[in-house]
Amino acid sequence: MNAIWVVAADGPAVGALLAAGHRLDGPVRALVIGSRELADQVSAAGEQVDWLPCGPDVPVAALARAAAAHVLGAGPVGVVLTGTGPGSRAVAGALAAALGAEVLADVRTVDGSGDGTVTVTHLLLGGLVEQQDDVDAPVVLVMDGGSAPEPAAAGTVQEVEVAADARLRRIGGEPALATGDDLRTATRIVGVGRGLRTREDLALVETLASALDAQIGCSRPLAEGLGWLPTDRYLGVSGLRVAPQLYVALGISGQLQHMIGVRDAEVIVAVNTAPDALVVSQADWTVVGDLYDVVPALVAALARVPAR
Ligand SMILES: Cc1cc2nc3c(=O)[nH]c(=O)nc-3n(C[C@H](O)[C@H](O)[C@H](O)COP(=O)(O)OP(=O)(O)OC[C@H]3O[C@@H](n4cnc5c(N)ncnc54)[C@H](O)[C@@H]3O)c2cc1C
Repeated sequence: MNAIWVVAADGPAVGALLAAGHRLDGPVRALVIGSRELADQVSAAGEQVDWLPCGPDVPVAALARAAAAHVLGAGPVGVVLTGTGPGSRAVAGALAAALGAEVLADVRTVDGSGDGTVTVTHLLLGGLVEQQDDVDAPVVLVMDGGSAPEPAAAGTVQEVEVAADARLRRIGGEPALATGDDLRTATRIVGVGRGLRTREDLALVETLASALDAQIGCSRPLAEGLGWLPTDRYLGVSGLRVAPQLYVALGISGQLQHMIGVRDAEVIVAVNTAPDALVVSQADWTVVGDLYDVVPALVAALARVPAR
């Protein structure tokens, strides 16, 4: 039978990919690119893991072609399931090219068999439309990986030696904030967007996050264009979808692609200089004002709230 491959290249948040893989008809195998710890975490969910070690100075993209060659060499492939992180996407592209397979992104549900037809629902037009398609295997599916898989029966880890593509090397610096806890479990999130003027001003955002005991998220440009925050911090249709009790959007315009990621928040508070920003009509509360004035005022007000 054609194999169902689950790719973990950006961390252990592949629980939803594994669950989707096991719902399909076909043997599930996991391809882990990264640390041994990551490989062990996935195998502890009872999975059969092929592990490609990847040092901190090597971008996953440098191993993408070798990873694809390994998967193809391991036997017939039915479905590849990858997460939305940058490493996973690089591997998804290499695998699709090597397999001559279709790629579907923003996948919500998968059903069927790796030997025949796979029924996929996926979002289009930046999340505006959901479409159901019947596609022939092999196919590469990119979807939200969910959270880390729960430990279950012991699996196996087989180390695979491949050579990294020496033409690719990391030249970017580290983001200002290190990658943190999974935002999907956060009860409060302060999100920041292009209303922030400089990377150094993240310190101001941290004062509010700290006062609220919240985690920091962001819009996509701050993570993917400016690189001020890690890519696992941006919220939206191509980032994380979160459901905190409180979401504070600082200097975020409220484009659909961002708001899809936060629409399950119980309360949304926006701080924006523009009274007609899209976020205003979607927020429960809006402070129309400059975040550089509003944030210190909020922090000072919160300091006056008696501790409970
Ligand atoms: C296919 C596709 C997928 C995408 N996926 C995502 C996604 O997953 N997540 C995502 O976030 N985006 C995504 N985007 C990008 C999205 O469309 C928007 O471009 C992006 O969310 C805008 O980010 P922003 O709100 O930070 O910036 P802007 O749209 O530039 O908004 C900045 C806001 O800050 C306000 N502002 C400026 N100065 C201040 C100040 N001093 N104080 C207070 N407010 C101020 C402005 O009035 C403005 O409303 C996607 C786009 C595409 C095409």
